Amino acid sequence: MREILETGLPQVGAGIECIPQLEEFTRLLLEKNQVMNLTAITDPGEVATLHLLDSLAVWQAGGLEGRSLLDVGTGAGFPGLPLRIAHPDLHVSLLDSLGKRVAFLQETCAALGLADVECIHGRAEEFARDHRGRFDVVVSRAVANLRILAELCLPLVKTGGRFLSMKAVDSREEIQGAEKALEKLGGALEQVIDYTIPTTDIRHRLLVIRKKKETPRQYPRRFAQIKKQPL
Ligand code: SAM
Repeated sequence: MREILETGLPQVGAGIECIPQLEEFTRLLLEKNQVMNLTAITDPGEVATLHLLDSLAVWQAGGLEGRSLLDVGTGAGFPGLPLRIAHPDLHVSLLDSLGKRVAFLQETCAALGLADVECIHGRAEEFARDHRGRFDVVVSRAVANLRILAELCLPLVKTGGRFLSMKAVDSREEIQGAEKALEKLGGALEQVIDYTIPTTDIRHRLLVIRKKKETPRQYPRRFAQIKKQPL
């Protein structure tokens, strides 16, 4: 695992001094994973590539230094927690609707001395009621189809800020299907960054969506409505 991180971290703009904390996070994750469902990936080398380096690839969007960043549907902390470990000046909030996962994140942040990380138990569409436009950046991996995800995430982004969506490289149809939704929510696709996870030949995609205008007040709707009638 250490070798993979030593090779991979500089390729995603991170320093190798964060390796001990990333290793400790991995140890806590795999230990807790024995008693609750946090990840299907249990090999430390694969955690290093598929979770840690993939999460850290978000840094390629650029201009993230010192920003406030919310990770929607963070699960066991991906991508938000590795980003905070590697870039301590980021102001990271982690949001998930599953209480047990948020409890794991709270324990983990305490054990790693990351007192500034905000771990929030809640649903994005409900959290948006009191936190509209609060974050410079909202990021999300493996949570929902872009049409749905955009309604969960864009209301939380500051006007002028960005929503970063981690997707598969074969997501062309999904992106096309979300064009209208992005427009209605005040967003526009600005950049598509395809990347290879360092030390692997796995290709993934990062969508950079700019919030150009304020999201109309009627969004986000209740989840049942979002799912039944995606924008
Ligand atoms: N982002 C993590 C990753 O890539 O490993 C976790 C992905 S997991 C497949 C999806 C997570 O999204 C789950 O932990 C689930 O509880 C959370 N989730 C789903 N819908 C949500 C919502 N509306 N608001 C907040 N969290 C949500």
